[in-house]
Amino acid sequence: MVARRWYLLMIQLIASLTQEPSAEELRALAEQVAVLEVRADLVGGLDCEWLRQHFPGKLLFTLRSRAEGGKASASVARRLERIQHAVERGYDWIDLEAERDLTDVMLQMVPGPRRVISWHGGPASLEDLRDRLARMSECEAGLYKLVPEAERSGQELAPLALLRSVRRQDVLAFAAGEIGTWTRFVAPRLGAPLVFGALGAKPAAAGQLSIEQLVSDYGLPGPLDFTGLYGVVGDPVSHSLSPRLHNGLYQQLDLPFLYLPFCVESFGDFWLEVVESESLDELGFPLRGLSITAPHKRVALAVSGAPSPLAEWIGAANTMVRRGNVWESESTDPAGVVRPFVSRGVELSGSRAAVVGAGGAGRAAAVGLRRAGAKVTVVNRTLERAQKIATDLRVEWQSLEDFSTARFDVVVNATPVGRKGEKPFFDLGSMSSTATLVDLAYHADRPTALVEAARELGCSVVDGREVLLYQAIAQFEMMTGEAFDVSLAEQLLGIELVR
Ligand code: NAP
Repeated sequence: MVARRWYLLMIQLIASLTQEPSAEELRALAEQVAVLEVRADLVGGLDCEWLRQHFPGKLLFTLRSRAEGGKASASVARRLERIQHAVERGYDWIDLEAERDLTDVMLQMVPGPRRVISWHGGPASLEDLRDRLARMSECEAGLYKLVPEAERSGQELAPLALLRSVRRQDVLAFAAGEIGTWTRFVAPRLGAPLVFGALGAKPAAAGQLSIEQLVSDYGLPGPLDFTGLYGVVGDPVSHSLSPRLHNGLYQQLDLPFLYLPFCVESFGDFWLEVVESESLDELGFPLRGLSITAPHKRVALAVSGAPSPLAEWIGAANTMVRRGNVWESESTDPAGVVRPFVSRGVELSGSRAAVVGAGGAGRAAAVGLRRAGAKVTVVNRTLERAQKIATDLRVEWQSLEDFSTARFDVVVNATPVGRKGEKPFFDLGSMSSTATLVDLAYHADRPTALVEAARELGCSVVDGREVLLYQAIAQFEMMTGEAFDVSLAEQLLGIELVR
């Protein structure tokens, strides 16, 4: 493996406290987190001495006002009093909101190097942000922070363009909201090398990931070591294990790439504003490939300049790779469903398979199973969609209402149901103990309720993380040209394949 370049800038983590932590939680943070942000509007003013006893890094005091997305509604006098108290108790840094805190009294109280001057607001253009930063910079501070919200794809680019135009290590800018989550990872390459994460599952702001996720899925804190970008496009994407898998493999192979979570409501907006505009090329980090997840697989195929015959047959793509100016597309989803049977030595030819769900994943599963020789029935809540697949792919169809697992050797859940902990939504009681259940839905750290229920009946099961791994093999190789390390992938996903 090539040694990492030592001179690369390290990204440091700031943990936002949104609920009172235990001493143990604080001690556990010490290795990964450089700064602890006490969101006093959410947790109150925590005892600084107690925090210092358990956390060795720097302390930042933030009293985010309601006007800027926080919960503090204190009067001017009370706000001044609380900030004064934080200064006296020895917080290293104090967040001052540019719109309300830059008064003479406040500035006299908080010394320049201890100030983080911030602004959080609605969508803003590059010009707006430049003007705002110029006004903020008239006042001395250790760090300037600008966080406009992204309400639609494309709006998240302005804070990155700002960073590129000013090139200042004392400026931190990224986009708030789930659409903007990915900008939190690119911004440190263009400005201050800091990323905020939540301590625990409750984020301090929309689009903020947990410290745990930043560490396990993005390899933070760590060096900024990427020249090209990949990512997963979907809505939602925050549950996806693809960033953990791809970033873990890049790290192992020392590939200079970063894999991002692109939460996208309108694929058209994303395609025009982020991909075709080549804004990421202009920032110096070209977008090289995309994994596509629900609900965008069909439209991804439609915009691709060079779809594979398999993706065209399925009518949906889960992989897009840029070759020059052309976006090729492919579907590796059939392999995700079929390869677990190959590795178990289970013959699909002649078997009877039910695919529940008629979206892009259902279509791909039906194609994969049919090509392997199974007799496929597509089952769906909305009859028209099941009938459409049946006609397109020449398979059978059934309504979800009439569905019984009794006569099938293979049952595939190709719906999102189960991902949020929902109970099985079709009856497994009559399923044969010699049958196999495949669940495309998955949890990051445990089997779904459907998988557990099938296991209790003695059936073979294929966990959605196993499907993810098998569909990622060809996807990763197509994207990077490098061999996929199956053992490392098992470790990253916390599963052991049946071989
Ligand atoms: P999609 O295009 O949005 O299709 C969703 C399907 O689920 C539709 O057929 C829909 O039925 C059905 N459905 C949704 N909610 C339902 C409910 N409450 N009860 C019954 N049916 C319901 O999504 P997709 O792209 O096909 O993906 C489906 C799921 O598979 C997603 O969660 C995706 O993350 C997962 N997936 C996982 C892997 C993996 O590697 N593990 C790979 C691919 C996909 P209607 O037509 O009636 O609306």
